[in-house]
Amino acid sequence: MEYRKLGNSGLTVSEISLGNWITHGAQVDDGTAKACVRAALEAGITTFDTADVYSNTKAETVLGQALKEIRRESIELCTKVCHPTGSGHNDRGLSRKHIMEACNASLRRLQTDYIDVYYAHRYDPHTPLEETFLAFADLVRQGKVHYIGVSEWTAAQIAQGSALAKELRVPFIASQPQYSMLWRVIEQEVVPASTQAGLGQITWSPLAQGILSGKYIPDQELPAGSRAAAEAGAPFFNNLAGQWLRDDVLIAVQQLIPLAKEIGLTLPQLAVAWVLQHPYVSSVIIGASRPEQVLENVKAAGVKLDRDFLSRIDEILSEWIERDPARTG
Ligand code: NDP
Repeated sequence: MEYRKLGNSGLTVSEISLGNWITHGAQVDDGTAKACVRAALEAGITTFDTADVYSNTKAETVLGQALKEIRRESIELCTKVCHPTGSGHNDRGLSRKHIMEACNASLRRLQTDYIDVYYAHRYDPHTPLEETFLAFADLVRQGKVHYIGVSEWTAAQIAQGSALAKELRVPFIASQPQYSMLWRVIEQEVVPASTQAGLGQITWSPLAQGILSGKYIPDQELPAGSRAAAEAGAPFFNNLAGQWLRDDVLIAVQQLIPLAKEIGLTLPQLAVAWVLQHPYVSSVIIGASRPEQVLENVKAAGVKLDRDFLSRIDEILSEWIERDPARTG
């Protein structure tokens, strides 16, 4: 594993993080979830990503159990607030009331005294931003949260947040957007705004939820046990099927497999390595339904790809790369 600073802050993160959306507390049993966490720790991953909303709060509980024997100072534990965690009108959003209640609940489920990076999971247009950042500032002063991040915020929202963070002296250090060979909407606006604000990117879905593993073959049945097969039976709240599970995209993705082989990588490793080539990325969050996937994907750490090689990827995927910054969030 290799390690990077998160934005302009002093916090070090592993350049590959493990996240537990859809997997822990839902798609995989607790034993498998723990085995994935163990595999990550053994591979040198120190940064773990979850959210209160994942698996309706169960994902935090599973992660808290999996990490409870681990020396707290040796890992970075990150979670998020904003999406609904109950049916009450204050069980969502970025109001002071919900942030304070959600943070305390996350701490209990994660069995820890503090969160390393606490994210606003989305922008909340119904709450004054100043109220949100004041609540974050108080959590930081109370020692319950060390650093603040945001997820899927636009460039303008990041700039507003950064101005308030400076005024309130809040350590605002991370942006968590989707980023992969297929989804590059942050490049034009979010990355420059983040760099200006001193934020590092901790990016999600490097495999486009498994599409960039190459295991979905055009015209063939969905592989048993895969996320797409599970979604076909019991939809999770994602857009996998609508977006990329189409023959034209899958045919292009198949062409990346021999390219990856040329440099001794598997396609999942190439997909993770591609994200890591960008200096504004502090860490790539991988997901895994089996420990073997963690062991395979972490081998992307430290891989360098040259310019010509990156251009060949772009040529193969060009028609399907999404770059429109308006699709942020
Ligand atoms: P990926 O794009 O890495 O997809 C992970 C999934 O791909 C795995 O669960 C597995 O699914 C499949 N996979 C992984 N490795 C391999 C492999 N080597 N071979 C074949 N299949 C493989 O990331 P996720 O979409 O899971 O997102 C990662 C994390 O990002 C989340 O856990 C979460 O922490 C964060 N996130 C944040 C969001 C936000 O709004 N801030 C939104 C979404 C995610 P399977 O085996 O079931 O097919």
